[in-house]
Amino acid sequence: MKNNLTFDVIIVGSGVGGATFTDYLLRKNPTLKIAILESGPHNTKENFNQREIDMTALYYNRGAVLSKNLQIGVAAGNTLGGSSAVYTGVSFRPPSSVIENWKNEFGLEFLSDEYVDKSLDEIEREISVHELPKSWDNDNNRLFQEGAENLGIPVKRLKINTKNCQQQGFCNLGCTTGAKQGTLEVQIPKITKLGVQIFCNTKVISVAENTINTIVLEAPEGTEPNTLENGSHQFTAKKIVLAAGVLNTPAILLRSAKLLGINNKNIGRYITLHPAFNINGIYHKNLSNYKGFPKTVYSDHFSKSDNFYLETSFYFPGVTAKNISGYGKLHQEIMKSYNRMMSILILTHDKAEYHNRITIDKKGNIVIDYTLSKDSKKALVKALQEATKVFFAAGCEQVLVPGSNKLPLTREDQKSIKNLISEKYLNLYKTPLSSAHPQGGVRMGIDKNKSVCDLSGKVYGTNSIYVCDASLFPTSVNVNPYETVMLLAKWVGENIMK
Ligand SMILES: Cc1cc2nc3c(=O)[nH]c(=O)nc-3n(C[C@H](O)[C@H](O)[C@H](O)COP(=O)(O)OP(=O)(O)OC[C@H]3O[C@@H](n4cnc5c(N)ncnc54)[C@H](O)[C@@H]3O)c2cc1C
Repeated sequence: MKNNLTFDVIIVGSGVGGATFTDYLLRKNPTLKIAILESGPHNTKENFNQREIDMTALYYNRGAVLSKNLQIGVAAGNTLGGSSAVYTGVSFRPPSSVIENWKNEFGLEFLSDEYVDKSLDEIEREISVHELPKSWDNDNNRLFQEGAENLGIPVKRLKINTKNCQQQGFCNLGCTTGAKQGTLEVQIPKITKLGVQIFCNTKVISVAENTINTIVLEAPEGTEPNTLENGSHQFTAKKIVLAAGVLNTPAILLRSAKLLGINNKNIGRYITLHPAFNINGIYHKNLSNYKGFPKTVYSDHFSKSDNFYLETSFYFPGVTAKNISGYGKLHQEIMKSYNRMMSILILTHDKAEYHNRITIDKKGNIVIDYTLSKDSKKALVKALQEATKVFFAAGCEQVLVPGSNKLPLTREDQKSIKNLISEKYLNLYKTPLSSAHPQGGVRMGIDKNKSVCDLSGKVYGTNSIYVCDASLFPTSVNVNPYETVMLLAKWVGENIMK
C-alpha cells in the first residue's frame, strides 16, 4: 500500500450521479475536503478525434459489456465525466406515473411535485436543456416525422442539453467543442475550482467502513498524467459515496460485503436495461443524417399501450454494421447503402425483476445476469412492426429488421408485416440488442428487506457508505434517465451531512 489519503467525503465515479452529488454537497458545505476517484482516464475535449475506432476507448470494454447469456450488450462511459462524456443529451423528466409508484411502493416521499419541479427547473437551467429549432432537423428526423404522421402517429420534439452546438453529430464519440453540457463541461470545472481533487485512472476495488481500496492504473497515452504512483492505494473518508454506475456500484458492494459485514440479498438485483434495437431502412437517395443534431423528434404514442418509445437516431458505420442482422456478402451489400439509411431507435420499458442482476464471478469481475421477459419480447416485436411501417410510410424501399424472416423487407412485404416480423423469428443470439440506460441494482426504498439503500442513499447495515447514481432507481424510469439520476444525486448531496 503506497499511501493513505484522507478526506471528509470521497465519491467513486465522476459521471452524472457523482459530479451532480458533489456540486450539491458543496453548495451546502463549501469547506469540506472532497475527492473523486474515477477509474477512467482524464480525457479532455481535445482528445476526442471523431474516429469511431479510437473513441471506443471512452467506453467500458470498448463499448459493450455482454450479458452472461450473450443476448444484450450494455454501454457505459469509462472516462472523466462518465457516460455524460458520450451520451447524446436527450433530456426527459421522470414521468409522474413513475414518481407516484416510487412514492407509493418504495416510500420515496421526498419526491413531492414541488421538489421534483423546482429541482429539475434549476438543473435544466444550469445545463441548458432546450428544444431544438426545426431548422436543425436533418433528413432522418424529417423523414421520421413524415412517416409517423402519414400513419397518424403523433410525434414530439426532444429536448437536449447543449450550448453553442455546432451540429457535428458526434455526441457519442465525445463532443469536440464542449457544447454538450455533461459533467465534463458543467460540474467538473466548477467543483475542481472549489478545491475538489479528482484522481483519474483510480479504480475502486472494494470499500470498508471509512476506507477505500483502489488500484491506480497507468494513464493511457495522450491523456492527462496521474498525480499518484501506479499501484495499490488506500483512501479514508468520513463518508464514501458510490457513483460508479449500474455495472460497477453493485459490483463494488458485492466485493465489499464481507468487509462491511452486510449480507443483503438485494444487492445487484432488479436491474432494468431499457432494451433497445437500432434499426435501419434504405431510402432511394442519399440522406445527410450526419448533418444537424442526430435526434430531434420521438414518439411516445405506444408507451402506455405497448411499452415502447421510438426515437430518431444516427450511428456511425461501425455501430451500424453491428446493428444490421445478416452476415457475409449480403451484409456487405447492405452496408454499401449506408449513405441512404434512415434510422430509428426502439426503447422498450422493462420491469424490475429479482432475477435480473449484476453479480460478480470468482475473480470479482462484473457479470450481467439478465433475461429478457415475455413482456419485453412482445414489446420489441410490436415496436419492430410499427417502426417498419414508419420506414415504409417515409418512403424507404427496404427495411432491415432483426426478428423478421426476411432480410431486407421490401415494399411488397408491407401487407404481411405481422407475419414476417414475429416472436418466432426473434432469435436473441443473432440480434444486436443493446442498452445504454441501465438502471437499478442498489434500490432505494423504505423497506430494508426489499431494497439496499435507505431514503438518504445510505446502504442499509453500514455507517458511512452511500450511493447516488442510476443504481438507486427502484424500477425503470421508462425514459432516457440522466435527468432522474441528477434529481436523486441532488437529493443525496443536499442531505448527506445532516
Ligand atoms: C452512448 C450513451 C448514450 C446515452 N444517451 C443518453 C441520453 O441521450 N439521455 C439520457 O438521459 N441518458 C443517456 N445515456 C444514459 C446516461 O448517460 C446514464 O443514465 C447516466 O450517465 C448514469 O449516471 P451514473 O452516474 O449512474 O453513471 P455514469 O455517468 O456512467 O458514471 C459512472 C462513473 O463511475 C466510473 N467508475 C466505474 N467503476 C468505477 C470504479 N470501480 N472505480 C472508480 N470509478 C468507477 C465510470 O468510469 C464513470 O465515470 C446514455 C448512455 C450512453 C452510454
